[in-house]
Amino acid sequence: MGRATIYLDNNATTRPLPEVVDAVQRALVEHWQNPSSIHRPGQSVRQQVELARQSVAKLVGVRPREVIFTSGATESIDLAIRGVLTAAPESRRTIVTTRIEHEAVRDLCESLSASGISIRHAPLLPGGIVDAEGLEAMLDESVALVSVQWANNETGSIQPVERIGEACRARKIAFHCDGSQWVGKMPTDLGSTPIDLLSLSGHKFHAPKGIGALIVRPGVRIRPVLRGVQEQERRGGTENVPGILGLGAGAELASAWLEDVSERERLGALRDRFERLVLEGVPDAVVNGPAELSLRLWNTTNIGFPGLEAEALLLLLSERGVCASAGAACSSGSLDPSPVLLAMGVAEPIAHGSLRFSLSRETTREDIEAGAQTVIECVARLRRSAARLA
Ligand code: PLP
Repeated sequence: MGRATIYLDNNATTRPLPEVVDAVQRALVEHWQNPSSIHRPGQSVRQQVELARQSVAKLVGVRPREVIFTSGATESIDLAIRGVLTAAPESRRTIVTTRIEHEAVRDLCESLSASGISIRHAPLLPGGIVDAEGLEAMLDESVALVSVQWANNETGSIQPVERIGEACRARKIAFHCDGSQWVGKMPTDLGSTPIDLLSLSGHKFHAPKGIGALIVRPGVRIRPVLRGVQEQERRGGTENVPGILGLGAGAELASAWLEDVSERERLGALRDRFERLVLEGVPDAVVNGPAELSLRLWNTTNIGFPGLEAEALLLLLSERGVCASAGAACSSGSLDPSPVLLAMGVAEPIAHGSLRFSLSRETTREDIEAGAQTVIECVARLRRSAARLA
């Protein structure tokens, strides 16, 4: 029998865990009624939804009523940004953000800019860390909202969100943080941070795809984007009960897993080993992202292979049973280098040949060893073919 697939790509490595699958199945079989119904079966579904809300609230350290269920981080981001903008006074028509956000933020800001909203991009320090001082200098009376991610999806760089939040709070500017990559992988006590709105996504922590939440701290004013009575009139539409119960189960598991710091250290050491092995086997490869390890999330590495096309390498790896991704996973398949890497100052020939590898709680030492060996062999093979063609 051939070797099992090795998942080192951000979207597949976090498969729904068995307890999550059970919760989704229970929702479909036992709790299929509408939680808005007044009758008893409906109310019993409501109770399940509220238990899931408590689990998500516990994972990020807030009260359950601060949790709005959405279809994932893209929708949460949309609700946070549009919701704050439409609730803000007419004089506040500026958003401050960065060029290294997930495209859910970048594309939305681009479309808002076409409708007259002014977008300011904060400067970046080497390695793709937001220059908090530079960002602070951009905050004036016209700013309605600042949106900066907690950890980057391509490089794992961790942003100074506390400092950015303090600067916003001092000026009474709303601060939205895209926490998709952070939540479930790192302990989060939102109540002790100056973050006003936090987006999160279930499939980043072993819950199902297509479910997420927006956390809105008390006193933050937003207007709904999807109108309706659900979610305290903040997000209309009958609740995705299977997704919500799956998210609740995933949140419970993540909270329990996060209690043991040695697990994160163990996996971080595996990530470091993967990098070391690849860099030893491909001496001209480079790691994209901050040099300081404490500024990178434990699960991510982004490696540039000069002179190679990321897509060719991805396809060859896939043939050999290793799943990785290039740039933002959703833009894989395009030949353009990642705009995030380019914005960080990565040279174009390196950005063209950069892949990202992500670990999950389930990644094993064997995955890392075999995955690194396969990467080294595939790079060598592509280089041999390129040399023959030259
Ligand atoms: N933000 C970041 C940082 C992400 O990594 C992702 C997912 O890839 C998203 C937003 C979008 O999340 P979703 O797929 O739940 O809409």
